[in-house]
Amino acid sequence: MPDKIANLINRLGRSIHCRQFAQGLNPAQWEALRYLSRANRYSRTPSALADYLHTTKGTASQTLKSLEAKGYVRRVPVPEDRRAVRLDVTDAGQTVLRRDPLQCLETSAAGLGGDLETVSRFLGRLAAALERSNGKVFGLCAECTYFCKNDEAGAESQAHKCGLHEEPLTAMDATKICVSHRCARG
Ligand code: SF4
Repeated sequence: MPDKIANLINRLGRSIHCRQFAQGLNPAQWEALRYLSRANRYSRTPSALADYLHTTKGTASQTLKSLEAKGYVRRVPVPEDRRAVRLDVTDAGQTVLRRDPLQCLETSAAGLGGDLETVSRFLGRLAAALERSNGKVFGLCAECTYFCKNDEAGAESQAHKCGLHEEPLTAMDATKICVSHRCARG
């Protein structure tokens, strides 16, 4: 069975790859744009992007330059660290993301029905296992062992907290992915 799963995922990957030459972007540029729209403020850096894409910093930098040239991403200085830079998706980037070719996969998955929750959990664990073998696991902030939940949260003044960075996190931050995520399962 594992060999069948591996072959199916590989087949899906090839089918999805060729659809992602769309809207003037290539598959790596789409994946970078998706990542930057989902990543939290600690993770929107060139090096975290390279880790997420499983590529070199040089290749990730070329991808970023293309996205900047198209006006989809901008570099924002980080006040606390003059050498650091944060990458933000622009309004134009958000607009093009609404025409993400990956949506055809979402539509097909929804149309098939079945226990999507179980499939999603299984694929999530598989992705994490592969990322772990590459040294970095990107995960959801709300599922991190450093995440200190404030049950009364709702307003900015009653924010959650990051136990690693010792900084407040909003409800929106809790839904983002993070390069420093630590999984409860280790
Ligand atoms: S709680 Fe974890 S995932 Fe969230 S910002 Fe802190 S280190 Fe990152």
